[in-house]
Amino acid sequence: SRGDRRKLVVGNWKMNGTRAANDRLLQAILSGWRPLQHVDAAICPPFVYLPQLAETLASSPLIVGAQSLNPRANGAFTGEISGEMLSDCGCHYVIVGHNERRRMQSESDLYVAEQFLAAQESGLTPILCVGESEQAREAGNALDAIGQQLRVVIEAAGLEAFSRAVVAYEPIWAVGTGKTATPEQAQEVHTFIRGQFGAQGNGLVILYGGSVKADNALSLFAEPDIDGALLGGASLNAEEFIAICQSA
Ligand code: PGA
Repeated sequence: SRGDRRKLVVGNWKMNGTRAANDRLLQAILSGWRPLQHVDAAICPPFVYLPQLAETLASSPLIVGAQSLNPRANGAFTGEISGEMLSDCGCHYVIVGHNERRRMQSESDLYVAEQFLAAQESGLTPILCVGESEQAREAGNALDAIGQQLRVVIEAAGLEAFSRAVVAYEPIWAVGTGKTATPEQAQEVHTFIRGQFGAQGNGLVILYGGSVKADNALSLFAEPDIDGALLGGASLNAEEFIAICQSA
């Protein structure tokens, strides 16, 4: 039952920030923060700011994550960042398979599966993003598309690996568009996702992402299979971020 699952809200800053702006945002979040019993909250800044966040958030309830990783072990891979480096910099979570990377960096389902495995091998908890395109939804193929994305990772990692992972449902048409899935649409997909994991599914934390704001979070979190949110835009505003964490 859902009573066993903690809530989780993750802020994905994407390619935003400066050291000064990050400090202001973090201080605003920390000064407005009220303790939460059943909710974990994490922030995923750009790689270069990970040490800054790890230091600033060290004695706070906020957890640090990264936005991606290269699945290979350290070596001759110019410009890349490994899971080992992320762990070393104080990361707990790492996002894999975000649709912006699947599309803009041509990351395949198989590559995402490699990232998922490498993250766990480095002691990180992967946040696996899945989600359908607008065309797939309109053609009635949303669940097929999501099922395929999940299947590749499940085949590579096994069901048991998902006891140390988070899944985020992010319909591509809802990310950064201001168009949120309705709570009913999201709930349908979350139930479907949970169903792919058999008994293992009961404990799996499944986030919704895509234009979540303080004013629509509550109705999404009221659904029994929505365990939290993956935030883009709303995570860059302290009041929005705090309000969403409070309503989880
Ligand atoms: P958004 O982004 O909240 O700005 O729609 C969500 C995401 O990309 O995780």
